[in-house]
Amino acid sequence: MRHLMSAAALLLALGPAAAQEYPTKPITIIVPAAAGGPTDTISRITAQAVSKLLGQQITIENVGGAGGTIGTTRAVRAEPDGYTLLIYHVGLSTAATLYRNLPYDTRQAFTPIGLLTDAPMTIIARSDYPANTLKELVDHLKKPDVKASMGNAGVGSASHLCGMLFMSETKVQVTTVPYRGTGPVMNDLIGKQIDLSCDQATNTTGPILGKTVKGYAVTTKARLKSLPDLPTADEAGLKGFELGVWHGLFAPKGLPPAIVAKLSTALRAALKDPDLVKRFNDINTEPMSDARATPQAAERTLLSEIDRWAPIIKASGQYAD
Ligand code: ASP
Repeated sequence: MRHLMSAAALLLALGPAAAQEYPTKPITIIVPAAAGGPTDTISRITAQAVSKLLGQQITIENVGGAGGTIGTTRAVRAEPDGYTLLIYHVGLSTAATLYRNLPYDTRQAFTPIGLLTDAPMTIIARSDYPANTLKELVDHLKKPDVKASMGNAGVGSASHLCGMLFMSETKVQVTTVPYRGTGPVMNDLIGKQIDLSCDQATNTTGPILGKTVKGYAVTTKARLKSLPDLPTADEAGLKGFELGVWHGLFAPKGLPPAIVAKLSTALRAALKDPDLVKRFNDINTEPMSDARATPQAAERTLLSEIDRWAPIIKASGQYAD
């Protein structure tokens, strides 16, 4: 009800003139994960390019925790006026099933604006971990006396899903450790306080190249340009193991169509900005194709991914609450 009222009030306040002038003040994008992590990095690069096109400052606010649901709740409760937006990923769709007491209805809570990228994931370990290949890693983890820890960004995050998939495919068991994002996971891996993670290449490319962490495999069909020596999970023995992390830009439900159009045009142009393309490529990801960068495609993805993950989560019987 509160949303209906505020949306109606806003439509009155925001006549076509206000929408045309948008944005007249700085925009905040909530990123529901810690600073320095993969989603934060993608969001900052995108925000810079969009900001240039809109001629307005964009600030990133990191609100990590509970697999992204804390920051997402903050975003969906904001006024749908275009000044508070959200960048998040597949975790929006998995949370719809994993968290049975979410304070919003994922199918209703958003005005989708567009998708940004599909980020590949990498299976990694601290640099001195006693396994040098994916096969050695699985053999090592199968030893009865081995106890390993695996950092993730909370239940429903991409790193959590990847870890679950890894465990179910290999029949190994590791102890998962939730963080507010995988930025802090990376710090602890480099500091050798935890053993393993499965994180987006946007966060792991630099540390793998710099050998401050060990890379075992990438979860895409093809090898990555900037990590040509890293085998695909499939090549390394995990047949068919594939996982990409779609990211999207969303607003709270009720964003006036003229503002959606403005943001969508800016986002689609930003994804073609040569500086953005280079910066995405440097961290081993690609801007989303124009066809998938639209509001309609973002909405289709959000909804179809809820449907894809719901039976998998229900079958596992593992919920976040
Ligand atoms: N998006 C999270 C982060 O940026 C990572 C994850 O979902 O695993 O920290």
